[in-house]
Amino acid sequence: MKIILLGAPGAGKGSVAKQLNELYGAVQISTGDILRSAVQEGTALGKKAKEYMERGDLVPDSIIMEIMEVRLQKPDCKNGFILDGFPRTITQAQELKVIIDRLHIHLDFVINLEVPVDVILERLESRRTCSNPSCQEIYNIKRNPPAEGGTCKKCGHSVIQRADETKEAICNRLETYNSKTAPLIDFYQNEGLLKNVLSLQLPETIAAIKKELNS
Ligand code: AMP
Repeated sequence: MKIILLGAPGAGKGSVAKQLNELYGAVQISTGDILRSAVQEGTALGKKAKEYMERGDLVPDSIIMEIMEVRLQKPDCKNGFILDGFPRTITQAQELKVIIDRLHIHLDFVINLEVPVDVILERLESRRTCSNPSCQEIYNIKRNPPAEGGTCKKCGHSVIQRADETKEAICNRLETYNSKTAPLIDFYQNEGLLKNVLSLQLPETIAAIKKELNS
C-alpha cells in the first residue's frame, strides 16, 4: 500500500493512518510528527520550524522536501507507506512526483478525507496529544480522554493541547488549508489518483478505504 492521505487539519488523517498501519503494516509518515519531534528535541530543523508551526503557517517547501526525499528512501518504505500531512502545497506535490518517478515508486491512490467544517472545529478544540515525541498518541477530551491526571494510556507521559490548537492558530491553519492545500484535490483528480472518502466515524472510513483498495 502506497497512498497519500489528504484532508483539512482535524479530518482524521493521523487516526486513519495509524489504523491502516496496524492493518497493512505500511509505515505512517507524518511530516507534522517529524517536525514536532524536532521542535521538542531542539534540533536545527526544530528551531527552523517552530515559529511557523506555532502560528499555524506551513513550514517552507524546501525544508519539507529535504526531509521527505531522505525519508522516502529508508528501507521501511519498501513495504508500503501512508503519507499523512504531506504534500500540502502544489509545489510539494510536483516535487514529490519527480522524486517518486526517480525512485520508481508507484502510488496506489490519494484518499481525500472529507469532513464538514463544524465537525473539524469541534475535533480540533477538544483534541489533546501525548507530549512524548516518539508516541504522539491522539486523545479527545470528550470521546476518548487520556488516563487520570491527563497522562497517556500508552506511555504515561503528559497529554497536552498543542500550541497550534488554540482558536487563533486553528483558524489560521484552516485558512492555510483552503488556500494552499485544497488545490491538491484538483491536482490529484487530474492525475487520476483521487478517491473521496467521508471521514466521520473511523470504522466506516477504514471500511470505505478497504473497499477502494480491493476494487
Ligand atoms: P499536522 O500535524 O500535519 O497538522 O502538522 C502540524 C504543522 O506542521 C502544520 O500546521 C505545519 O506548520 C507543519 N507541517 C506539517 N506538514 C507540513 C507540510 N507538508 N508542509 C508544510 N508544513 C507542514
